[in-house]
Amino acid sequence: MSVLDLARPEIRTLQPYSSARMEASGGQVMLNANESAWEPVGEAGAGCNRYPDPQPQALLQALATLYGVQREQLFVGRGSDEAIDLLVRAFCRADQDAIVIQPPTFGMYAVSARIQNAAVIEVPLADDFSLDIQALLAAITPAVKLVFLCTPNNPSGKSMSLAEIEHVAQALAGRALLVVDEAYIEFSDQPSAMTLIGRYEHLAVLRTLSKAWALAGARIGTLVASPDVIGLIRRIMPPYPLPLPCVAAALAALSPSGQAAARAHIAIVREQRAFMRRSLVGLPGVRDVLPSDANFLAVRFDDAGEVYKRLLQAGIVVRDVRRYPKLQDALRITIGTPDENARVLALLNSSSVAGRRAADGSA
Ligand code: PMP
Repeated sequence: MSVLDLARPEIRTLQPYSSARMEASGGQVMLNANESAWEPVGEAGAGCNRYPDPQPQALLQALATLYGVQREQLFVGRGSDEAIDLLVRAFCRADQDAIVIQPPTFGMYAVSARIQNAAVIEVPLADDFSLDIQALLAAITPAVKLVFLCTPNNPSGKSMSLAEIEHVAQALAGRALLVVDEAYIEFSDQPSAMTLIGRYEHLAVLRTLSKAWALAGARIGTLVASPDVIGLIRRIMPPYPLPLPCVAAALAALSPSGQAAARAHIAIVREQRAFMRRSLVGLPGVRDVLPSDANFLAVRFDDAGEVYKRLLQAGIVVRDVRRYPKLQDALRITIGTPDENARVLALLNSSSVAGRRAADGSA
């Protein structure tokens, strides 16, 4: 059985759109795409009168080198959000198929599935936010086409081990595509599941330049999978997913100096994450700070709503994650610059002092 047998049959036989840029590029006089012959005004638009390469070779090569895989194993799109959406559309028939997720987790898996009218089967994480493998495998029915694992998980920050991922991959062979979302893995010590892709054709990994690579605004995300799965996704990708200025920004970020900057910032985030966790744990009003392998901390408060408001009044915006199961008393705080983090601590310190004074009636 091929992994493609899991995909929607009509997608496998679909005649993909053949864009002008795919059919021909590199001529001296390009009159095949109804583009403007003139460059737009402004430096930012240089070259943008032409449609971009749908999957630019230079970017594919830079990402393939970074991730240690072949170019044929990569689809690059507008953030990993786009890859999630394309995977759901390629594998799930509306009103028939399903995905499996582990709440609390990143919201787009379920949203993409619901847009496609695929069912969302929820297998909650355990109380310590670890993966419940037995429950996960028990939930796999023939309708399940995609199983999403998020590691480190958003919003808990907890990682799954490679052994756990491989266990799930082995059990899902021939049954479902396992999609491991590693959006935050650069901040963790865990090895990437990409090391397993050569052995499991039904394993796919999502990576992004939005977090450690400081390019959330450029929207560059990568799906790493077997050439068969990548070929299928490229059949249904939008004609020109990658805007030219975004590709240039990605290539600069992946250059030697860009990589050095990313490494330096990752080191700061990791150091600050440990510092913030130590500092927050000691504050009155803080119930718990979950251990995190990502660039954020989930923090439990006695009154998370009140803390959220106080931070907001001081111009500090954090994520209210109280709607997530098991996190009904929590806020998710991204690790910022040391100065930004110090502002969070100063405010929480002063509000806890003010709160104590109000409670015991002192001035
Ligand atoms: N996966 C996870 C776990 C995320 O937290 C996010 C963004 N918050 C994404 C994927 C989407 O990232 P991108 O910017 O690459 O679309």
